[in-house]
Amino acid sequence: MSTDTFKALVLEQQNGEVQATIQTLTKDALPEGEVLVAVAYSGLNYKDGLALTGQGRIVRSYPMVPGIDFAGTVVESSSPDYKPGDEVVLTGWWVGERYWGGYAQMARVKAEWLVPLPAGLSLQQAMSIGTAGLTAMLCVMVLEEHGMTPTMEREVLVTGSAGGVGSVAVALLANLGYKVVAATGRAETHEYLRSLGAHDMLDRTVLSAPGKPLESERWGAAVDTVGGDTLAGVLRSMAQGGSVAACGNAGGIALNTTVIPFILRGVNLLGVESVLCPQPRRRAAWARLASDLPKAAFDPITQVVALEEIPELGRQILKGQVRGRVVVDLQA
Ligand code: NDP
Repeated sequence: MSTDTFKALVLEQQNGEVQATIQTLTKDALPEGEVLVAVAYSGLNYKDGLALTGQGRIVRSYPMVPGIDFAGTVVESSSPDYKPGDEVVLTGWWVGERYWGGYAQMARVKAEWLVPLPAGLSLQQAMSIGTAGLTAMLCVMVLEEHGMTPTMEREVLVTGSAGGVGSVAVALLANLGYKVVAATGRAETHEYLRSLGAHDMLDRTVLSAPGKPLESERWGAAVDTVGGDTLAGVLRSMAQGGSVAACGNAGGIALNTTVIPFILRGVNLLGVESVLCPQPRRRAAWARLASDLPKAAFDPITQVVALEEIPELGRQILKGQVRGRVVVDLQA
């Protein structure tokens, strides 16, 4: 790859429609920032699907290079914290939304947004984790802080389990010794989820069906990536004192529930947000991802694709058709 010109997927808006094209750019087209990174891999997240299709007011100005996370090698730096050759990871900070992101072979960003590649992870593995995996880890951390422990008698539920956040959550929790139940709408993913360590599966319609304000106690803790009626169903079946880490809304933003699970069972509903997560917690989460996620989990979770495949995969992720993590190889 020449460092004078590079390939980028660029979103432009014409007559209210968002168009994605692969363009050849030069470094002077990049925004200002202290660190120039040769991007090796980027990820595909639900938010990227929204950006690519112009939905959800994700992108604030055009032209935009989307891609909310990336991993690569520093090429130039005016920051004392990074030097050429350093391997780095970036997730969040509205990169790919308000600032140019990872669907380009070069990115220029603020030094304070970067995290050094954690020891024990390759650049590709870092993007197999990506924003989705960081979010899964933040969910596990907040649940642990609220009493979740592997000695707990009850099972841990993961919703949207065959998706990006869900897959990493299943693999992490299983490796930490929890009995994980994976809720999914896709029966064809059962074998995959079992290979990640899920102990049992649940059809997702069981959770989203209407129910009483309280159902039998079942879940000791839960990671919810779906929201909507699914989250309402999870709350009804939480055990006494159990906690739900809620991070996603793939199934809708409305929450039709009652106060009963909170006041009669002391259930905790814990919001998880990875975009502006403070650096100390972010680095702690990355360190744990490097140590707590079994290396064997990476291969089944990951699908490596070319930049040209991203627009179609962006449409698929919004339909819930993508399994695990999609990683874009930008080195070609
Ligand atoms: P994916 O599309 O990879 O996974 C979402 C999964 O949710 C799907 O695979 C599917 O799982 C399930 N699902 C999709 N649509 C529906 C529906 N209508 N009803 C019920 N289940 C559904 O997305 P990600 O894992 O990347 O992201 C998941 C959510 O988390 C998104 O809302 C995303 O915006 C959010 N997110 C939040 C972050 C934060 O910081 N809070 C960071 C990253 C993501 P299955 O087929 O197994 O049923």
